Amino acid sequence: MHFPNLFVTATGTDVGKTIISAALLDAAARHGHQLQYWKPVQTGGVDIDRHSIEAVLSRPLLCPLPSFSYSKPASPDQAAVADKADPPYVATLMQRFRQHSAGPLLVEGAGGLATPLNEDNETWLGFMIATRLPVVLVSSTRLGTINHTVLSLETLDAHDIPVLGVILNGPHDQANLQSLQRMMPHHRFTSFPEINFESQSTQWMAATDGLWKFLKEASEEIDEATWIETDKKVLWHPYTQHKTAPAPAPIVRAKGIHLYTEEGDELIDGTSSWWTCSIGHGHPEIGAAIRRQQSRLDHCIFAGATHRPAVELAEKLIDLTEGHLQRVFYSDNGSCAVEVALKMASQGWKNKGVADRHLFLHFKGAYHGDTFGAMALAEHDGLHGHQRGGLLAGVEATPVTAHRSRLCPDGPASLAQGLDALDAIFARHHQNLAGVLIEPWLQGASGMNIQELSWLQHLGRLCRLHGVPLILDEVFTGMGRAGAPFAFLRAGLEPDIVCIAKGLTGGNLPLAATLCREDIFAQFEDDDRQKALLHGHTFSGNPIGCAAALATLKVYKKQNLFDRALQIEDRFMQWLESQDDRIENGRTLGGVMAWEIAGTGFGSYFSPAAEAMPAIARRHGLLLRPLGNTMYFVPPLSITSSELEDALQRIERCLDDMLPLSLSHGLTPAEHAFEDGAQLSP
Ligand SMILES: *Cc1c(COP(=O)(O)O)cnc(C)c1O
Repeated sequence: MHFPNLFVTATGTDVGKTIISAALLDAAARHGHQLQYWKPVQTGGVDIDRHSIEAVLSRPLLCPLPSFSYSKPASPDQAAVADKADPPYVATLMQRFRQHSAGPLLVEGAGGLATPLNEDNETWLGFMIATRLPVVLVSSTRLGTINHTVLSLETLDAHDIPVLGVILNGPHDQANLQSLQRMMPHHRFTSFPEINFESQSTQWMAATDGLWKFLKEASEEIDEATWIETDKKVLWHPYTQHKTAPAPAPIVRAKGIHLYTEEGDELIDGTSSWWTCSIGHGHPEIGAAIRRQQSRLDHCIFAGATHRPAVELAEKLIDLTEGHLQRVFYSDNGSCAVEVALKMASQGWKNKGVADRHLFLHFKGAYHGDTFGAMALAEHDGLHGHQRGGLLAGVEATPVTAHRSRLCPDGPASLAQGLDALDAIFARHHQNLAGVLIEPWLQGASGMNIQELSWLQHLGRLCRLHGVPLILDEVFTGMGRAGAPFAFLRAGLEPDIVCIAKGLTGGNLPLAATLCREDIFAQFEDDDRQKALLHGHTFSGNPIGCAAALATLKVYKKQNLFDRALQIEDRFMQWLESQDDRIENGRTLGGVMAWEIAGTGFGSYFSPAAEAMPAIARRHGLLLRPLGNTMYFVPPLSITSSELEDALQRIERCLDDMLPLSLSHGLTPAEHAFEDGAQLSP
């Protein structure tokens, strides 16, 4: 058997945790396993628990790691204050734990799950979440044990901590055991009888062998070590060339701006987990909202039925548009939000009896998602080279007139040319346009292209003038990413339809919404049922998703996150200006910063320097994913100033490491980002 590290905790003090540790250490030794012992925090006297185990076993223990010891028998937070000593912190305990490499380790807590370690309210539970060590929960057979045991197990379950089993320590009580087995049928229970602790007695040998067998069976069931290997056999990852891609980072948990790997590495989530995680990972208020909603109403059909979370969220989203939009249609991802928008526009014209509005104006470098309608109206040379066409008819405009950065204002086309091109397109097609679809101000997936604001505003004016619905794909720029609740508010546009998704639930659950003006909605109100918007997704308006979004909006408000991207943008701007010629085309909008690696050209996806970047970034504690050779940093908006400084320093260290690579592979900059068949993937 591969014996795991394990964590021995209890439902309270005085239930006999230490004697169970002694029993496990003894049984392990008799079965040929050198299980080592670590009591990270000891109160009530230096090493007293270790000494009592040594007395039972009549031998010294191997204790490989240092401990915090306090003289007062109290919870660690209080004992530290009484001794005027530093209290233990989860981070320090983790550091020590990681230093341990040789052989399996039995870690024994002090008190129970919610016992505080320090005055910052860290508890043993925090340590358990961080290590995810399999837990042995020691409980008693006394009166009150059912309540304590069930509450402890529910907490462990809620945090997905593997539980090897519960050991009821004391005089055998069959009724208690049966009640617990009935109430928590997915957990394993065993009893440890009240015996004398002389290690050679036959009673002791029998009892400890019983425990050993119990744990052996349990640990075989939770052996998780092989899941990373299994990934290679069973999974097909998005946008991944499985033949050449390096092994994916095995992520086991996340907190705030950090992701943690199976090996215990801490990585800054430099893409906000594909641009979704705006408020940081593991926000407790979102977790609580999700749990509350799940226990009240998890999901229900959204045609012919409704529920409060959907209504409340719609009201709040409409408020955020500052009077621009009045209706909300729910779906569950950004691509679908775009599909809905396209249907609203095209069927709207048909409902009005206008037959010849069949074209959508879209833009070079656009990305609107991976469904066929969205692909039809996207950049055809890059992401969707295989899927040209699709079901929708589109006319392709000029490239968006982008200023790659405020530092480097010369975009692919001059502003005057860009404006002329728009005028020409409208002059030619305005009577056939069903709508205009654009990622306002910032094209994301095609390489973080920032548009000339006056060009974008001109587009908005042309739409108004010709009565063409302006559809803004704010799947990325919405929810505060561009420095306002929506990019259109900051850019001064008047959209007819707006799509949002990323960031809507703070990265917790898939949810999307298409918002529109009342006059668009009115085109579908009719006695003729055929004129309804005949579109819906099974999970439309999922109540848990809506509850998560409502809680997310509260966090945005409390932490001022809708304004936060403006401050981040200022700092990004400063940082870009301070960089030397290691980077090209530095640019920023809101909580987005991007640049090209010097010397590798705009569109050179096959640049070896760019290919090497993710691995270099990981060495510096950053999880980044370039778009071609465009590097970008999109941190959670909740990032603190000191975290931001730390991240920028790490990026600089990456650039230092990149320098020799990009010099040795100096490629000529392509004239235009999208005309060299650039292969991009988000
Ligand atoms: C990500 C993205 C989409 C697609 O959203 P999914 O949830 O991945 O379907 C659409 N538009 C823009 C601008 C995006 O960034």
